Amino acid sequence: MKLGEIELHIIQDGSFGLDGGAMFGIVPRPLWSRTKVPDTANRIRLSLNCVLVRTADRTILVEAGLGRSLPPGFGEHLACEEVGRLEERLAELDVGAADVDVLILSHLHFDHAGGATWLAEDGRWHPTFPNAEVWVQRGEWENACRPNERTRAAYRPESLRPLEAEGRVRFLDGPVRVAPGVRLEVLGGHTPHMMGVWVEAAGATVFFASDLVPTTAHLRYPYIAAYDLDPLTTLETKQRLLPVAAREGWWWIFAHDERPMARLEEDEKGHIRPCEEAR
Ligand SMILES: [Zn+2]
Repeated sequence: MKLGEIELHIIQDGSFGLDGGAMFGIVPRPLWSRTKVPDTANRIRLSLNCVLVRTADRTILVEAGLGRSLPPGFGEHLACEEVGRLEERLAELDVGAADVDVLILSHLHFDHAGGATWLAEDGRWHPTFPNAEVWVQRGEWENACRPNERTRAAYRPESLRPLEAEGRVRFLDGPVRVAPGVRLEVLGGHTPHMMGVWVEAAGATVFFASDLVPTTAHLRYPYIAAYDLDPLTTLETKQRLLPVAAREGWWWIFAHDERPMARLEEDEKGHIRPCEEAR
């Protein structure tokens, strides 16, 4: 997609499976399983969508996927398919790992930040994008590096700390402009400091919602994952942003849908639904 000077691509780092019940929180299985059919282990398939944004002078990557250094057994446990191929996908667009200037991590869960580093045979973690500055909210970083019993399974601090040690992290405290037409804002909900990313140029708006609305099946307001630490913030943010997105014709990017981008509309009952998919 082109928005004036800005070029935008959605890149999928494969897919994985998570428990359908956990992905839909309080919604009973007979309802959610109509749209997302679970496998025999009750997992639903989730794409790992990353966004490449090329402005006049910057190459920006939003999210890094699961990456290629998964812990033993992880790939099987999470039914991973085609993961760890982000660099290949970028190469298909003529973008080398060294070309990425900015890596934005909406939050640091392993399915969004895992690909930021890789583990060498000598046991050391290395940045996947050797020239990239990693932009992350400071509070998110602190929570990821000091997880508690509730959050521990979602973070891999050992894979993140080397980025800080090498001075590659730009710690953010709230909203910030990344480049002309590209800005970040804290959405909270899923994690207290999770960010959304807006690309606004040539009269168009593209919005990467991260895990605020992970798939099109989460557009309904009460469809909120049990993973969310503050589901009422997720609800309020959905109620605030989705009607605006529908009214203003934003392209909405779903972090985990195999159909990653759509325009939205609000029906007579007030339900938000996709009305136009991107090619
Ligand atoms: Zn996620």
